[in-house]
Amino acid sequence: MSSFVDYRLGVKRKLLIVDDEEINRMLLTNILEKEYDILTANNGQEALKIVRKEKGRISLILLDLLMPVMDGYAFLEKVESDTVLKGIPVIVLTSERGAEVQSLTMGAADFIPKPYDAPEAILARIGRIIRLYEDTNIIGATQNDELTGLFNREYFIEYAMLFDQYYPDEAKEVIAINVNRFHVLNAMQGREFGDQVLSVIGKSIKEYVNESRGVACRYSADQFYVYVKSEGHEEKLMLSICDALKPLLDDADTRIRMGVFVGAVEGEDLAKSLDHALLACNGINDKYNRKIAYYNDKLQEKEHFDEMLIHDLDKALAEKQFKVFYQPKYAIQGDEPVLSSAEALVRWEHPELGMISPGKFIPLFEQNGMIGKVDRFVWKESARQIAEWKEKFGVTIPLSVNVSRVDVLNEGLASEMLEIVHAAGVEPKEYYLELTESAYVDNQSNIVTVAEKLREAGFCIEMDDFGTGYSSLNMLTSLPFDVLKLDMIFVRNVHRDSKAYRLVEFILDVARFLGVTVIAEGVEYREQYELLKKLGCDVIQGYYFSKPVCAAEFERFITG
Ligand code: C2E
Ligand code: CA
Ligand code: CA
Repeated sequence: MSSFVDYRLGVKRKLLIVDDEEINRMLLTNILEKEYDILTANNGQEALKIVRKEKGRISLILLDLLMPVMDGYAFLEKVESDTVLKGIPVIVLTSERGAEVQSLTMGAADFIPKPYDAPEAILARIGRIIRLYEDTNIIGATQNDELTGLFNREYFIEYAMLFDQYYPDEAKEVIAINVNRFHVLNAMQGREFGDQVLSVIGKSIKEYVNESRGVACRYSADQFYVYVKSEGHEEKLMLSICDALKPLLDDADTRIRMGVFVGAVEGEDLAKSLDHALLACNGINDKYNRKIAYYNDKLQEKEHFDEMLIHDLDKALAEKQFKVFYQPKYAIQGDEPVLSSAEALVRWEHPELGMISPGKFIPLFEQNGMIGKVDRFVWKESARQIAEWKEKFGVTIPLSVNVSRVDVLNEGLASEMLEIVHAAGVEPKEYYLELTESAYVDNQSNIVTVAEKLREAGFCIEMDDFGTGYSSLNMLTSLPFDVLKLDMIFVRNVHRDSKAYRLVEFILDVARFLGVTVIAEGVEYREQYELLKKLGCDVIQGYYFSKPVCAAEFERFITG
């Protein structure tokens, strides 16, 4: 066995004797005290107090059944329902016939008949049970996720393979389960709350797999997988999770997402089946009313498409298939709108697939960490473009580039950015950086340090997609940024919905209070433009002025 056990075998273990009769406690103490440290209690309630105080230092409990206050049966029930106590073995001390079976079914590890007439046998029995429990606890600790008691990912894969061997001829399915916008829950309600939610989910899943004979794990943060025979009971699992969560989460019904891949068969690569289920799961968003999605042909097509994009990325960079488009931003508070800057937006001109919009590949490359390559291309190209226009027209059109959430984790970002602008002969103040609000919320401490460094280096920071990332007002005051980019969902209805109007009004007030500039995105209609101008919005970007266009086309806005 592992060295941990060997080491612990040299330690004198603590036993707790629970019996209301002093003579019985003394008899047992006599037999055991040479090999063990002994604690005693008069009844179940006292025993519970001692166990809680000793937290994990008690190796075994010897339990009488008939006692006043709290008897042995009630104590066993408590132990069974308590995850901490459950790890301590209980040996029941019995004098009546029949009590053995009942106590064993209630979770006792073994029993010792009274009267105590064979001390060696008692010592041997106790020693064996302690070793057994310690071994399984150690195995359990490495196999299981601490928070939920489900398998961790390595053991999940192993046990799933065992499962295949047990049920070779049955169709299986993988169920992926996660919590929509879990990071927001964590950010708004605290980690402890997040942990509570996960442990409730874990418990429901555990009950489900115990019943339906399957294997389950917590794979990462809020990502769970279940591997079971395909019997179509996932609705039931969904219901039980939501019910269990209701006391904690009002919107449990819309938060829990489930993706199912039916047809995971023996021998087939399990990792692939997990991916399929996860893809179906993550495709569910707030727009849909359904909470369970099944992997199907359309998803398979998307998966192939994604694989193709990943495969083609390096070649595309080398062959300059990526193009940067520019969308003008206009300052609107003067008599006439004035071109103030532009946002650089990437496009992929794929030789076979045609023009691919960033919505198709940015999230994909963000997920697999390749986005940095695309971003760096856009950053360099934009810096070069500023310099080219400065030279050609004698004016600076500051450009803003998107910085994805993966980039912000890079501590060296500020020096890299400086290098890029300096190499192009551009000043940092002519170059703006758009950081999405949700990245701020996801990763506060990191992003604050990086954003502060970027500002110190002279870059202007725009908080992108503002309003969709759920940062709280009091958080806003501590985040470093110069410009707030109001997300288009607020702009969309500003001219026809009084609630949207008041919301925009409120956000503009907050911005004034913070002393930052506001840019409204996605402005398409004259009414939106006029309302935003009236409310004091500084800058506007959107189809009202222009779609993003290629550099050559953009020049008419400069000369215009
Ligand atoms: P974003 O940063 O929020 O960019 C604004 C998006 O809104 C752009 O979509 C733009 O074309 C679109 N848009 C602008 N005005 C209007 C309007 O009036 N109405 C409507 N309906 N849409 C408008 P696009 O170019 O498809 O980009 C989508 C997203 O992809 C961007 O959202 C950004 O998050 C990301 N992205 C684009 N280029 C890059 C890049 O170089 N690097 C990174 N990391 N992300 C990028
Ligand atoms: Ca942007
Ligand atoms: Ca945006």
